[in-house]
Amino acid sequence: MVHIHNLGKSYNTAKGTVPVLQDIHLTVEKGDIFGIIGFSGAGKSTLIRCLNRLEEPDTGMIVIGDKVITELDERELRVARQKIGMIFQQFNLFDAKTVFQNVAFPLEVAGHSRPYIQQRVREILDLVQLGDKAHVYPYQLSGGQKQRVGIARALVNEPDLLLSDEATSALDPQTTYSILELLKEINRQLHLTILLITHELDVLQHVCNNMAVLEAGRIVETGPVEQFFLQPRSDTAKRFVGILDHYRERRNVVMEGVGEGI
Ligand code: ADP
Repeated sequence: MVHIHNLGKSYNTAKGTVPVLQDIHLTVEKGDIFGIIGFSGAGKSTLIRCLNRLEEPDTGMIVIGDKVITELDERELRVARQKIGMIFQQFNLFDAKTVFQNVAFPLEVAGHSRPYIQQRVREILDLVQLGDKAHVYPYQLSGGQKQRVGIARALVNEPDLLLSDEATSALDPQTTYSILELLKEINRQLHLTILLITHELDVLQHVCNNMAVLEAGRIVETGPVEQFFLQPRSDTAKRFVGILDHYRERRNVVMEGVGEGI
């Protein structure tokens, strides 16, 4: 479904050209929920934004489905992007548009008829459980509801791939959980391939089947999520899992203390 071959990306800064991604090779199978984890600054956002060329890669090839994304001209890229949904940490909704208008926007850009737009937006708002919020504005919604609008907008054009750029990082744990459950449900119902980036272990553990670890712009580990937790190999994986173990031990000590106090 997604093949990344030898991807490289640098930024020009005051200090010169700084490599951000190097030698990235990655395959995501159709229907998978695949997570890329890394600490802040590892290059996760740059990587996911290269997939739909919101960032232009310097080198390498990206294939999504039957399209070589890195070879498309501007017009072809606009069309291809209609089949690549994306959700963001800060939701990126239009504040001056209602929920309905936000979700309808990609369909208007794609040139669909008004009756189709009416029907499709209703359908997708029901899927994300916002059927009763069609005519409210984003400021009237909670963070979780705003992300549901973001998800509806990303799915309205029936994409083959959903990219999630830290979509739950601004949400509290309970809301994060409900959004992750929704993503799982969408994956199951629509057989949609989901590729997400995160710095949160909980997200990986909760929704992903397979994953990659990004460390200083390089993929240092890939495999099933269980393998990451049971046999972390890279420094980054060991640090993440080490932090988790530390909290588990502390929780056990606290729980034992509570037990003894009873
Ligand atoms: P992550 O998402 O893992 O936190 P990013 O992809 O946002 O990492 O950033 C990776 C590195 O690239 C960081 O060192 C960041 O400062 C740098 N970077 C990101 N965007 C730009 C840019 N537009 N110009 C220069 N440097 C950038």
